[in-house]
Amino acid sequence: MLDYEAIVIGAGVAGIYQIKRLVDLGVRATVLEAAGGLGGTWYGNRYPGARFDSESYTYGYSFSRELLDEWHWKERFSGQPENLRYLNHVADKFDLRRHMQFNCRVEAAHWDEAQSLWRLEVSDGRTLTTRFVIMTLGLLSIPARPRYPGMESFKGRSFHTFDWPHEGVSLAGKKVAVIGTGATAIQAIPVIADTAAELTVFQRRPNWAAPLNNGPISDEEMADIRRRYDEIFATCARTPGGFEHEPDRRGFWEVSREERLALWDRLYGEPGFGIWLRNFREIFTDEKANAEFSDYIAGRIRQRVKDPATAEKLIPRDHGFGVQRVPLETYYYEAFNRDNVHLVDVSATPIVRVTETGLRTAERDYEFDVIVYATGFDAITGAYDHIDIRGVDGERLAETWKDGPSTFLGLLVAGFPNMLMPTGPQSGSASVNFPRGIELGVNWCTDLLIHMREHGQARCEATRAAQARWSKHVQDMYAMLLLRKAKGWFTGYNSNVPGHEEGRIRYVVYNGGQPKYTAILSQVAMSGYEGIVFEPGDQRSVASLGRTQHSAVSS
Ligand code: NAP
Repeated sequence: MLDYEAIVIGAGVAGIYQIKRLVDLGVRATVLEAAGGLGGTWYGNRYPGARFDSESYTYGYSFSRELLDEWHWKERFSGQPENLRYLNHVADKFDLRRHMQFNCRVEAAHWDEAQSLWRLEVSDGRTLTTRFVIMTLGLLSIPARPRYPGMESFKGRSFHTFDWPHEGVSLAGKKVAVIGTGATAIQAIPVIADTAAELTVFQRRPNWAAPLNNGPISDEEMADIRRRYDEIFATCARTPGGFEHEPDRRGFWEVSREERLALWDRLYGEPGFGIWLRNFREIFTDEKANAEFSDYIAGRIRQRVKDPATAEKLIPRDHGFGVQRVPLETYYYEAFNRDNVHLVDVSATPIVRVTETGLRTAERDYEFDVIVYATGFDAITGAYDHIDIRGVDGERLAETWKDGPSTFLGLLVAGFPNMLMPTGPQSGSASVNFPRGIELGVNWCTDLLIHMREHGQARCEATRAAQARWSKHVQDMYAMLLLRKAKGWFTGYNSNVPGHEEGRIRYVVYNGGQPKYTAILSQVAMSGYEGIVFEPGDQRSVASLGRTQHSAVSS
């Protein structure tokens, strides 16, 4: 007897929805979560300033009308505490918490071909068996810390932003270092600058950032949003990024420079990713168009930062706007106008070691009370690499993906039967408004399970040929975009992760956009799951899967 029919690993936004679908279907399932509570990214990232940069009401789940009608988002881009409250509310409302086990890190998952089951080793010493393992591990759930000598010797407090202490940290009167200037640091720096006595930012490469333009959502606006939910999710479904932001369909070179400037002036003042996603499509593909727009944003930075030398340091030179994931900011550039904020260019004077009292660069020593590592993640494949996953004949997933992942649709891997990845590497979810991608992936994987039940199948596995075709398609998408040249997590780069340093692109994300990805997934399902080989099994093993009962608004 199997312990479970399905085990979901990870209780973040994807795991919560996945267990909801399984519970609704009457599947004997559980979620194993390494952390002490649910919420994934919103459980971990408690750094000051952590908030959505998706419009809150497009980030929430769409599957339940009741949920949509009762939740009042307080801000257009809601902060971490409210986001975590929301996810806990969802779990409580649908009584999902009893299907979740916390402080359970899955250390190994081995496929047993003879018995057609997965055997999971959990950090609490248990070994659990399951027919299906569903990976909802998070794309950015493994923090990547630098590898400086002396890190352990520091006598003050130091932590990665993902591990920001839950009880909070008083920064008042403290000397604080922030290392990194990615989306996380760009959210945190202005807030830390408000409280710390001194803040020193260690920047290696600047990022292009644009204003978030956040604001409260009034009762009247929320009522209007509720009325428009069908329309909002329909728009998200047809836009490449899964947002309300639709690209400007005019050709970049077909309109005058004045018209381009007028659009950019408008977008710069609008909330959210409009500046990136409502822009001309050539920004993503045409070097010259991208350079003109990047120049426009550089001008904005120069206007906002008083000291010209600091402004120049904050302007990226090695990549254009939008070819890396764009951070959205609230008074980020103005933070550098404050007397208590200092910018150190680590590319000129590298950090050489952590000392007992602070940091040593090639130039001098700095003293700090707190060091914040905002140094990014072992993104997308990192969470898989941290579990000893072995498929047919003991094939190790980490070894197979050593030079980058290869998958079928980002959802299945040849040689790893019954392992489903609703938001896996090479799936569409990373490059879109994440929950929109999550619902799509979870629904597709759940429908696959229903299909198997209806056809008495107990084992599914992607074929190597289908996987090779998908991986080629993923690579071809990169070839069309300027992002292929960028050093960011979309190309699998993080200097702190061995093997992920600069040099070779890893094809980790599907960049074809949400509508195209949705169409491909539907086509595969409608073809009877071409590219997947099924094997029948003991009817009892799949009998517990019932019919779809979810009341999705936009599934
Ligand atoms: P990141 O974008 O990878 O940025 C890491 C930063 O740390 C970079 O500036 C990097 O510099 C620097 N760095 C890394 N190692 C370093 C070292 N050894 N010495 C000096 N500098 C070092 O990571 P992140 O800021 O955590 O953001 C990751 C992703 O999380 C974002 O792209 C976004 O998708 C997501 N995120 C989302 C939200 C949201 O939705 N609201 C908020 C925050 C983050 P180099 O560039 O030179 O390597």
